[in-house]
Formats: sequence, structure tokens, C-alpha cells
Amino acid sequence: MPRLRECPFDNNRDLQVEHFNGDDYHVKCKRCGAQGPTADTWAEAEKLWNDRDGSDKH
Ligand SMILES: [Zn+2]
Repeated sequence: MPRLRECPFDNNRDLQVEHFNGDDYHVKCKRCGAQGPTADTWAEAEKLWNDRDGSDKH
């Protein structure tokens, strides 16, 4: 399992993956509540979270 990068907003590493709406996942920062992109799987949610940091490709 890939290691999650720290939250880009407060550098917090206390993160969790939330499972919601049946089959959607996203990473959430437990401190500031920042949420990563929604994904179909746990692993994808972690990947999207890590990809988001740094250059913004959206
Ligand atoms: Zn945060």
C-alpha cells in the first residue's frame, strides 16, 4: 500500500480513507478536514491524494 503524503494545507499526516455513498472513497485529513478527489477504490483514492500534491493537473 502506498504511503500517503502529508496534507498540503497543514502538513498533517493523520489521514484516513473514507468510504461513502456505497462505493466511493476519498482521503480525508483528520485535522483540517481537507478531502482528496473521489475515487472508485481505496487504492485509487490514495493515488489521487498523492498525485494532487505539487503540480495541479486539473
Ligand atoms: Zn489537513
